[in-house]
Amino acid sequence: MNIDSIQNGIVIDHIRAGCGMQLYDLLKLGELDVSVAIIKNVTSHKMGKKDIIKIDADIPVDLDVIGFVDPDATINVIRNGVLVEKKTLALPEKLTNVLKCKNPRCITSCEQELPHVFKLADRAQRLYRCIYCETKA
Ligand code: ZN
Repeated sequence: MNIDSIQNGIVIDHIRAGCGMQLYDLLKLGELDVSVAIIKNVTSHKMGKKDIIKIDADIPVDLDVIGFVDPDATINVIRNGVLVEKKTLALPEKLTNVLKCKNPRCITSCEQELPHVFKLADRAQRLYRCIYCETKA
């Protein structure tokens, strides 16, 4: 794919440098049958360095996951070569099946079918806790 000219797809911009791969993994982009480009350490006037992810397909992306990894990232939706939508993010109040509780005695480790849910406990510290056992993420 020509990474500069996506016709229909999503560009996740202004990702904190070094977070691109984590986002790629958490969004499970490697499991999709679409072209994805991660561009690392791009020079940015605003941020010094940043990462960018370009997805060459108009697929739904989990905004909560992106907001969790980097609430300052921006999402550009491109259709027919034109930027049609810009989305900004915030730290999500709740994360479902993004993180796994590490407490071996948590109910989620014996009840496999339970969703792993974390709630934002402290916005300033970006602290999440398991809703079942309160363990920190
Ligand atoms: Zn737990």
